[in-house]
Amino acid sequence: MRSTEITPEKDGEQVKVAGWVHEVRDLGGLVFIVLRDREGFLQITLPKKVIERETFNRARKISRESVIKVEGVVKKEEKAPNGFEIIPKTIEVLNESLAPLPLEVTEKVPADLDTRLDNRFIDLRRPKINAIFRIKSQVVRSIREFLYEEGFIEVQTPKIVSTATEGGTELFPISYFEKEAFLNQSPQLYKQIMMSAGFEKVFEIGPIFRAEEHNTTRHLNEATSIDIEMSFTDHEGVMKILERLIARVYADVLEKCGKFLQILELNLEVPKIPFPRISYSSALEIVRRSREIPWGEDLDLQALKILGAEIGGLYFITDWPTKIKPFYVMTFEDERISKSFDLMHGYIELASGAQREHRYERLVENIKAKGLHPESFEFYLKAFRYGMPPHAGWGLGLERLLMAMLNLGNIREAMLFPRDRTRISP
Ligand code: ATP
Ligand code: MG
Repeated sequence: MRSTEITPEKDGEQVKVAGWVHEVRDLGGLVFIVLRDREGFLQITLPKKVIERETFNRARKISRESVIKVEGVVKKEEKAPNGFEIIPKTIEVLNESLAPLPLEVTEKVPADLDTRLDNRFIDLRRPKINAIFRIKSQVVRSIREFLYEEGFIEVQTPKIVSTATEGGTELFPISYFEKEAFLNQSPQLYKQIMMSAGFEKVFEIGPIFRAEEHNTTRHLNEATSIDIEMSFTDHEGVMKILERLIARVYADVLEKCGKFLQILELNLEVPKIPFPRISYSSALEIVRRSREIPWGEDLDLQALKILGAEIGGLYFITDWPTKIKPFYVMTFEDERISKSFDLMHGYIELASGAQREHRYERLVENIKAKGLHPESFEFYLKAFRYGMPPHAGWGLGLERLLMAMLNLGNIREAMLFPRDRTRISP
Protein backbone atom coordinates (compact mmCIF):
# COMPACT_ATOMS: atom_id res chain seq x y z
CA MET A 1 0.00 0.00 0.00
CA ARG A 2 1.07 3.57 -0.53
CA SER A 3 1.18 5.96 2.41
CA THR A 4 -1.72 8.04 1.09
CA GLU A 5 -4.00 5.00 0.88
CA ILE A 6 -3.91 4.54 4.67
CA THR A 7 -6.11 6.63 6.96
CA PRO A 8 -6.94 6.57 10.70
CA GLU A 9 -10.22 4.90 9.73
CA LYS A 10 -8.24 1.80 8.81
CA ASP A 11 -7.60 1.31 12.55
CA GLY A 12 -7.00 -2.37 13.29
CA GLU A 13 -6.38 -3.35 9.65
CA GLN A 14 -3.35 -5.27 8.45
CA VAL A 15 -1.20 -3.37 5.93
CA LYS A 16 1.97 -3.89 3.92
CA VAL A 17 4.05 -0.83 3.13
CA ALA A 18 7.47 -0.28 1.62
CA GLY A 19 9.85 2.61 1.26
CA TRP A 20 12.95 4.34 2.58
CA VAL A 21 13.91 4.85 6.21
CA HIS A 22 13.75 8.63 6.48
CA GLU A 23 14.58 8.76 10.14
CA VAL A 24 15.00 6.46 13.14
CA ARG A 25 14.31 7.84 16.60
CA ASP A 26 15.38 5.58 19.41
CA LEU A 27 13.91 6.51 22.78
CA GLY A 28 15.06 3.35 24.54
CA GLY A 29 11.78 1.69 25.26
CA LEU A 30 10.23 3.08 22.13
CA VAL A 31 11.54 3.33 18.58
CA PHE A 32 10.01 5.39 15.80
CA ILE A 33 10.82 4.82 12.16
CA VAL A 34 9.70 7.46 9.71
CA LEU A 35 9.12 5.61 6.46
CA ARG A 36 9.05 7.60 3.24
CA ASP A 37 7.44 6.38 0.05
CA ARG A 38 6.65 8.15 -3.20
CA GLU A 39 3.58 9.80 -1.73
CA GLY A 40 4.65 10.85 1.73
CA PHE A 41 5.59 9.73 5.22
CA LEU A 42 4.39 7.02 7.61
CA GLN A 43 5.16 6.57 11.25
CA ILE A 44 6.16 3.06 12.25
CA THR A 45 6.02 2.75 16.03
CA LEU A 46 7.82 0.02 17.92
CA PRO A 47 7.03 -0.15 21.64
CA LYS A 48 9.63 -2.50 23.15
CA LYS A 49 7.02 -4.33 25.22
CA VAL A 50 4.87 -5.29 22.25
CA ILE A 51 7.41 -6.02 19.54
CA GLU A 52 9.32 -9.23 19.20
CA ARG A 53 12.79 -8.71 20.63
CA GLU A 54 14.79 -9.52 17.49
CA THR A 55 12.64 -7.25 15.31
CA PHE A 56 12.96 -4.46 17.84
CA ASN A 57 16.73 -4.70 18.07
CA ARG A 58 17.17 -4.88 14.32
CA ALA A 59 14.83 -1.95 13.72
CA ARG A 60 16.69 0.46 15.97
CA LYS A 61 19.91 -0.19 14.02
CA ILE A 62 18.57 0.19 10.49
CA SER A 63 20.60 2.82 8.70
CA ARG A 64 18.82 5.82 7.26
CA GLU A 65 17.75 5.53 3.58
CA SER A 66 17.69 1.74 3.69
CA VAL A 67 14.76 0.26 1.80
CA ILE A 68 12.39 -1.69 3.99
CA LYS A 69 9.12 -3.56 3.80
CA VAL A 70 6.84 -3.47 6.80
CA GLU A 71 3.85 -5.63 7.62
CA GLY A 72 1.81 -4.48 10.54
CA VAL A 73 -1.42 -3.13 11.96
CA VAL A 74 -2.79 0.39 11.63
CA LYS A 75 -3.42 2.08 14.95
CA LYS A 76 -5.32 5.32 15.28
CA GLU A 77 -3.10 7.75 17.16
CA GLU A 78 -3.87 11.42 17.40
CA LYS A 79 -0.32 12.36 18.30
CA ALA A 80 1.10 10.77 15.13
CA PRO A 81 1.60 13.11 12.13
CA ASN A 82 -1.11 11.49 9.98
CA GLY A 83 -3.41 10.59 12.87
CA PHE A 84 -2.29 6.98 12.83
CA GLU A 85 0.79 4.83 13.23
CA ILE A 86 1.73 1.35 12.15
CA ILE A 87 2.69 -1.24 14.73
CA PRO A 88 4.88 -3.68 12.79
CA LYS A 89 4.77 -7.45 12.93
CA THR A 90 7.73 -7.85 10.59
CA ILE A 91 10.28 -5.48 9.13
CA GLU A 92 12.26 -6.73 6.17
CA VAL A 93 15.33 -4.85 5.01
CA LEU A 94 15.21 -5.08 1.21
CA ASN A 95 18.37 -3.11 0.73
CA GLU A 96 20.62 -1.54 3.27
CA SER A 97 22.03 1.95 2.78
CA LEU A 98 25.64 2.79 3.50
CA ALA A 99 26.41 5.42 6.10
CA PRO A 100 27.24 8.24 6.22
CA LEU A 101 25.02 9.54 3.45
CA PRO A 102 26.61 11.76 0.79
CA LEU A 103 23.72 14.15 1.29
CA GLU A 104 20.98 14.71 3.84
CA VAL A 105 17.48 13.78 2.74
CA THR A 106 15.90 15.52 5.71
CA GLU A 107 15.92 19.27 5.30
CA LYS A 108 18.10 19.70 8.37
CA VAL A 109 21.49 20.22 6.75
CA PRO A 110 21.62 22.42 3.65
CA ALA A 111 23.98 21.33 0.89
CA ASP A 112 25.46 23.33 -1.96
CA LEU A 113 24.17 22.82 -5.48
CA ASP A 114 27.26 20.98 -6.73
CA THR A 115 27.11 18.38 -3.97
CA ARG A 116 23.41 18.00 -4.60
CA LEU A 117 23.83 17.52 -8.34
CA ASP A 118 26.74 15.10 -7.85
CA ASN A 119 24.36 13.02 -5.74
CA ARG A 120 21.22 13.80 -7.65
CA PHE A 121 19.58 10.38 -7.05
CA ILE A 122 19.53 11.11 -3.36
CA ASP A 123 18.85 14.85 -3.72
CA LEU A 124 15.70 13.89 -5.63
CA ARG A 125 14.49 11.91 -2.63
CA ARG A 126 14.02 15.20 -0.79
CA PRO A 127 10.33 16.06 -0.93
CA LYS A 128 10.96 19.64 -2.04
CA ILE A 129 13.15 18.58 -4.93
CA ASN A 130 10.92 15.68 -5.83
CA ALA A 131 7.92 18.02 -5.97
CA ILE A 132 9.52 20.09 -8.75
CA PHE A 133 9.67 17.07 -11.04
CA ARG A 134 6.23 15.83 -10.15
CA ILE A 135 4.97 19.25 -11.24
CA LYS A 136 7.18 19.24 -14.34
CA SER A 137 5.57 15.98 -15.39
CA GLN A 138 2.12 17.54 -15.04
CA VAL A 139 3.23 20.60 -17.00
CA VAL A 140 4.35 18.46 -19.94
CA ARG A 141 1.18 16.40 -19.75
CA SER A 142 -1.02 19.49 -19.77
CA ILE A 143 0.86 20.98 -22.70
CA ARG A 144 0.42 17.78 -24.70
CA GLU A 145 -3.26 17.52 -23.84
CA PHE A 146 -3.91 21.15 -24.68
CA LEU A 147 -2.14 21.02 -28.02
CA TYR A 148 -3.86 17.77 -29.03
CA GLU A 149 -7.21 19.35 -28.13
CA GLU A 150 -6.31 22.29 -30.37
CA GLY A 151 -5.74 19.95 -33.29
CA PHE A 152 -1.94 19.80 -33.26
CA ILE A 153 -0.03 16.62 -34.02
CA GLU A 154 3.21 15.72 -32.32
CA VAL A 155 6.30 15.31 -34.45
CA GLN A 156 9.90 14.26 -33.94
CA THR A 157 12.55 16.07 -35.95
CA PRO A 158 16.27 15.22 -36.14
CA LYS A 159 18.65 16.25 -33.41
CA ILE A 160 21.68 15.48 -35.57
CA VAL A 161 21.91 18.11 -38.29
CA SER A 162 24.31 19.48 -40.84
CA THR A 163 23.45 23.20 -40.67
CA ALA A 164 23.07 25.71 -37.91
CA THR A 165 19.45 26.81 -37.50
CA GLU A 166 20.40 30.43 -37.33
CA GLY A 167 23.94 30.24 -38.55
CA GLY A 168 25.00 31.07 -35.02
CA THR A 169 28.05 29.81 -33.29
CA GLU A 170 26.26 28.21 -30.37
CA LEU A 171 26.56 24.72 -31.81
CA PHE A 172 28.07 21.51 -30.54
CA PRO A 173 29.95 19.76 -33.33
CA ILE A 174 29.81 15.98 -33.22
CA SER A 175 31.76 13.35 -35.03
CA TYR A 176 29.51 11.77 -37.65
CA PHE A 177 31.46 9.33 -39.83
CA GLU A 178 33.22 11.37 -42.52
CA LYS A 179 30.82 14.33 -42.36
CA GLU A 180 30.59 17.45 -40.28
CA ALA A 181 27.51 17.41 -38.07
CA PHE A 182 26.04 19.22 -35.08
CA LEU A 183 23.51 18.75 -32.31
CA ASN A 184 20.45 20.77 -33.21
CA GLN A 185 19.92 24.05 -31.39
CA SER A 186 16.22 24.21 -32.35
CA PRO A 187 13.69 22.27 -34.46
CA GLN A 188 12.88 25.57 -36.23
CA LEU A 189 13.74 24.71 -39.82
CA TYR A 190 12.24 21.23 -39.68
CA LYS A 191 8.96 22.31 -38.13
CA GLN A 192 8.64 24.91 -40.89
CA ILE A 193 9.20 22.19 -43.49
CA MET A 194 6.24 20.39 -41.85
CA MET A 195 4.07 23.34 -42.90
CA SER A 196 5.03 22.73 -46.51
CA ALA A 197 4.30 19.04 -45.86
CA GLY A 198 0.72 20.03 -45.12
CA PHE A 199 0.34 19.13 -41.45
CA GLU A 200 -0.87 22.65 -40.65
CA LYS A 201 -0.43 22.35 -36.87
CA VAL A 202 2.55 20.55 -35.37
CA PHE A 203 4.32 20.53 -32.05
CA GLU A 204 7.44 18.96 -30.67
CA ILE A 205 8.71 18.55 -27.14
CA GLY A 206 12.37 17.69 -27.28
CA PRO A 207 15.92 18.58 -26.36
CA ILE A 208 17.79 21.55 -27.78
CA PHE A 209 21.54 21.88 -27.51
CA ARG A 210 23.33 25.19 -27.19
CA ALA A 211 27.01 25.71 -26.76
CA GLU A 212 26.53 28.77 -24.57
CA GLU A 213 29.93 29.54 -23.11
CA HIS A 214 28.65 31.52 -20.18
CA ASN A 215 27.40 29.87 -17.05
CA THR A 216 24.22 31.69 -16.06
CA THR A 217 21.31 30.78 -13.81
CA ARG A 218 18.95 30.75 -16.82
CA HIS A 219 20.95 28.90 -19.46
CA LEU A 220 21.57 25.20 -19.85
CA ASN A 221 23.59 23.54 -22.58
CA GLU A 222 20.86 20.98 -23.00
CA ALA A 223 17.32 22.20 -22.43
CA THR A 224 13.82 21.09 -23.34
CA SER A 225 11.98 23.08 -25.94
CA ILE A 226 8.28 23.06 -26.63
CA ASP A 227 7.83 24.13 -30.20
CA ILE A 228 4.75 24.73 -32.26
CA GLU A 229 4.29 25.74 -35.88
CA MET A 230 0.94 26.57 -37.43
CA SER A 231 -0.18 27.43 -40.95
CA PHE A 232 -2.66 30.06 -42.16
CA THR A 233 -2.13 32.23 -39.11
CA ASP A 234 0.15 35.07 -38.03
CA HIS A 235 2.19 36.05 -34.97
CA GLU A 236 -0.93 37.20 -33.15
CA GLY A 237 -2.65 33.88 -33.73
CA VAL A 238 0.16 31.92 -32.13
CA MET A 239 0.51 34.40 -29.26
CA LYS A 240 -3.09 33.66 -28.35
CA ILE A 241 -2.39 29.94 -28.34
CA LEU A 242 0.66 30.51 -26.18
CA GLU A 243 -1.10 32.55 -23.50
CA ARG A 244 -4.02 30.13 -23.37
CA LEU A 245 -1.57 27.26 -23.05
CA ILE A 246 0.25 28.94 -20.16
CA ALA A 247 -3.02 29.71 -18.35
CA ARG A 248 -4.12 26.12 -18.82
CA VAL A 249 -0.84 24.76 -17.44
CA TYR A 250 -1.12 26.95 -14.33
CA ALA A 251 -4.76 25.93 -13.81
CA ASP A 252 -3.93 22.22 -14.17
CA VAL A 253 -0.98 22.44 -11.80
CA LEU A 254 -3.15 24.22 -9.25
CA GLU A 255 -5.84 21.60 -9.57
CA LYS A 256 -3.69 18.49 -9.75
CA CYS A 257 -0.49 19.32 -7.90
CA GLY A 258 -1.84 21.07 -4.79
CA LYS A 259 0.14 18.80 -2.52
CA PHE A 260 3.43 19.54 -4.26
CA LEU A 261 2.76 23.28 -4.31
CA GLN A 262 2.19 23.05 -0.59
CA ILE A 263 5.49 21.22 -0.10
CA LEU A 264 7.15 24.04 -2.04
CA GLU A 265 5.20 26.61 -0.02
CA LEU A 266 3.92 28.26 -3.17
CA ASN A 267 0.74 30.18 -3.80
CA LEU A 268 0.18 29.85 -7.50
CA GLU A 269 -2.33 32.03 -9.28
CA VAL A 270 -3.71 31.36 -12.73
CA PRO A 271 -2.56 34.31 -14.87
CA LYS A 272 -5.28 36.35 -16.54
CA ILE A 273 -5.37 36.42 -20.32
CA PRO A 274 -4.71 38.27 -22.50
CA PHE A 275 -1.21 38.96 -21.16
CA PRO A 276 -0.07 42.58 -21.50
CA ARG A 277 1.65 43.34 -24.79
CA ILE A 278 4.31 45.96 -25.04
CA SER A 279 6.19 46.83 -28.18
CA TYR A 280 9.97 46.81 -28.26
CA SER A 281 9.90 50.59 -28.80
CA SER A 282 7.72 51.23 -25.73
CA ALA A 283 9.88 48.82 -23.73
CA LEU A 284 12.88 50.85 -24.80
CA GLU A 285 11.25 54.03 -23.48
CA ILE A 286 10.87 52.44 -20.06
CA VAL A 287 14.49 51.28 -20.05
CA ARG A 288 15.66 54.69 -21.23
CA ARG A 289 14.35 56.28 -18.03
CA SER A 290 17.36 54.67 -16.37
CA ARG A 291 19.75 53.92 -19.22
CA GLU A 292 20.43 54.97 -22.77
CA ILE A 293 20.10 52.19 -25.34
CA PRO A 294 19.97 52.93 -29.07
CA TRP A 295 16.93 51.72 -31.03
CA GLY A 296 17.69 48.40 -32.67
CA GLU A 297 19.92 47.04 -29.95
CA ASP A 298 18.95 43.87 -28.12
CA LEU A 299 17.67 44.24 -24.57
CA ASP A 300 20.40 42.88 -22.34
CA LEU A 301 19.94 41.41 -18.89
CA GLN A 302 20.17 44.79 -17.16
CA ALA A 303 17.57 46.30 -19.49
CA LEU A 304 15.24 43.33 -19.02
CA LYS A 305 15.59 43.69 -15.24
CA ILE A 306 14.44 47.29 -15.43
CA LEU A 307 11.52 46.22 -17.58
CA GLY A 308 10.68 43.20 -15.45
CA ALA A 309 10.59 45.35 -12.33
CA GLU A 310 8.28 47.83 -14.07
CA ILE A 311 5.84 45.39 -15.69
CA GLY A 312 6.26 42.15 -13.74
CA GLY A 313 4.44 38.87 -14.24
CA LEU A 314 3.82 37.46 -17.69
CA TYR A 315 3.89 39.83 -20.65
CA PHE A 316 4.80 39.93 -24.33
CA ILE A 317 7.40 42.14 -25.94
CA THR A 318 6.36 42.54 -29.59
CA ASP A 319 7.55 44.22 -32.79
CA TRP A 320 11.25 43.57 -32.39
CA PRO A 321 13.78 45.18 -34.72
CA THR A 322 14.35 42.84 -37.65
CA LYS A 323 18.10 43.06 -37.34
CA ILE A 324 18.21 41.32 -33.94
CA LYS A 325 15.84 38.52 -34.92
CA PRO A 326 16.69 35.47 -37.06
CA PHE A 327 16.39 35.42 -40.87
CA TYR A 328 13.16 33.42 -40.89
CA VAL A 329 10.99 36.11 -39.23
CA MET A 330 8.59 38.12 -41.37
CA THR A 331 8.72 41.89 -41.29
CA PHE A 332 5.98 44.49 -41.36
CA GLU A 333 5.76 46.83 -44.32
CA ASP A 334 8.31 48.88 -42.45
CA GLU A 335 11.04 46.30 -42.89
CA ARG A 336 12.93 47.44 -39.85
CA ILE A 337 10.26 45.88 -37.64
CA SER A 338 9.47 42.19 -37.49
CA LYS A 339 6.28 40.29 -36.68
CA SER A 340 8.00 38.74 -33.71
CA PHE A 341 7.48 38.48 -29.98
CA ASP A 342 9.04 37.21 -26.80
CA LEU A 343 7.01 35.97 -23.87
CA MET A 344 8.57 37.24 -20.67
CA HIS A 345 8.15 36.48 -16.99
CA GLY A 346 9.70 39.36 -15.09
CA TYR A 347 13.13 39.64 -16.66
CA ILE A 348 13.29 36.07 -17.91
CA GLU A 349 12.47 35.15 -21.49
CA LEU A 350 10.20 32.12 -21.65
CA ALA A 351 9.47 31.94 -25.36
CA SER A 352 10.26 33.50 -28.72
CA GLY A 353 8.00 33.40 -31.73
CA ALA A 354 7.02 35.11 -34.95
CA GLN A 355 5.17 34.95 -38.17
CA ARG A 356 7.63 33.41 -40.60
CA GLU A 357 8.71 34.62 -44.02
CA HIS A 358 7.09 32.09 -46.37
CA ARG A 359 7.89 33.93 -49.62
CA TYR A 360 10.89 32.25 -51.21
CA GLU A 361 12.58 35.31 -52.73
CA ARG A 362 12.28 37.32 -49.53
CA LEU A 363 13.58 34.45 -47.47
CA VAL A 364 16.67 34.10 -49.64
CA GLU A 365 17.27 37.86 -49.33
CA ASN A 366 16.96 37.62 -45.56
CA ILE A 367 19.47 34.80 -45.39
CA LYS A 368 21.94 36.81 -47.44
CA ALA A 369 21.30 39.94 -45.39
CA LYS A 370 22.38 38.03 -42.27
CA GLY A 371 25.63 37.13 -44.01
CA LEU A 372 24.62 33.48 -44.40
CA HIS A 373 24.75 31.29 -47.50
CA PRO A 374 21.50 30.15 -49.10
CA GLU A 375 23.31 27.03 -50.39
CA SER A 376 23.71 25.68 -46.89
CA PHE A 377 19.95 26.01 -46.38
CA GLU A 378 18.99 24.26 -49.60
CA PHE A 379 17.19 21.39 -47.83
CA TYR A 380 15.03 24.03 -46.12
CA LEU A 381 14.58 26.47 -49.00
CA LYS A 382 13.42 23.67 -51.30
CA ALA A 383 10.27 23.36 -49.19
CA PHE A 384 9.41 26.98 -50.00
CA ARG A 385 9.43 26.58 -53.79
CA TYR A 386 6.47 24.29 -54.23
CA GLY A 387 3.63 25.74 -52.20
CA MET A 388 4.43 26.94 -48.70
CA PRO A 389 1.48 28.36 -46.74
CA PRO A 390 1.86 31.43 -44.53
CA HIS A 391 2.71 30.26 -41.05
CA ALA A 392 3.81 31.24 -37.55
CA GLY A 393 5.11 29.55 -34.44
CA TRP A 394 7.08 29.75 -31.22
CA GLY A 395 9.54 27.91 -29.02
CA LEU A 396 8.97 27.81 -25.28
CA GLY A 397 11.67 26.71 -22.84
CA LEU A 398 10.23 24.07 -20.52
CA GLU A 399 12.79 24.62 -17.76
CA ARG A 400 12.37 28.40 -18.01
CA LEU A 401 8.62 27.95 -17.58
CA LEU A 402 9.20 25.83 -14.47
CA MET A 403 11.60 28.44 -13.13
CA ALA A 404 9.00 31.15 -13.56
CA MET A 405 6.10 29.15 -12.22
CA LEU A 406 7.87 27.73 -9.18
CA ASN A 407 10.02 30.75 -8.49
CA LEU A 408 13.26 28.78 -8.82
CA GLY A 409 16.42 30.82 -8.54
CA ASN A 410 18.43 28.62 -10.86
CA ILE A 411 17.36 26.80 -14.03
CA ARG A 412 19.42 23.78 -12.95
CA GLU A 413 16.76 23.14 -10.28
CA ALA A 414 14.31 22.39 -13.09
CA MET A 415 16.47 19.77 -14.83
CA LEU A 416 17.07 16.26 -13.49
CA PHE A 417 20.64 16.10 -14.74
CA PRO A 418 21.62 19.56 -15.91
CA ARG A 419 24.32 20.07 -18.51
CA ASP A 420 26.27 23.25 -18.05
CA ARG A 421 29.69 24.66 -18.91
CA THR A 422 31.45 22.36 -16.47
CA ARG A 423 29.01 19.54 -15.84
CA ILE A 424 28.38 16.54 -18.08
CA SER A 425 27.98 13.93 -15.33
CA PRO A 426 25.88 12.47 -13.80
P1 ATP B 1 18.16 33.90 -24.33
O1 ATP B 1 18.22 35.23 -25.06
O2 ATP B 1 17.44 33.96 -23.03
O3 ATP B 1 19.49 33.22 -24.26
P2 ATP B 1 17.27 32.89 -26.86
O4 ATP B 1 16.53 34.07 -27.39
O5 ATP B 1 18.65 32.62 -27.32
O6 ATP B 1 17.25 32.92 -25.25
P3 ATP B 1 15.52 31.21 -28.38
O7 ATP B 1 16.44 30.82 -29.47
O8 ATP B 1 14.55 32.28 -28.62
O9 ATP B 1 16.40 31.57 -27.08
O10 ATP B 1 14.83 29.86 -27.84
C1 ATP B 1 13.46 29.77 -27.46
C2 ATP B 1 13.31 29.49 -25.99
O11 ATP B 1 14.09 28.36 -25.60
C3 ATP B 1 13.83 30.61 -25.11
O12 ATP B 1 12.86 31.62 -24.97
C4 ATP B 1 14.09 29.89 -23.82
O13 ATP B 1 12.91 29.70 -23.08
C5 ATP B 1 14.56 28.54 -24.28
N1 ATP B 1 16.04 28.49 -24.28
C6 ATP B 1 16.85 28.92 -25.25
N2 ATP B 1 18.13 28.73 -24.92
C7 ATP B 1 18.13 28.15 -23.71
C8 ATP B 1 19.15 27.69 -22.84
N3 ATP B 1 20.43 27.80 -23.16
N4 ATP B 1 18.78 27.15 -21.65
C9 ATP B 1 17.48 27.04 -21.34
N5 ATP B 1 16.48 27.43 -22.11
C10 ATP B 1 16.79 27.99 -23.30
MG1 MG C 1 14.59 34.26 -27.99
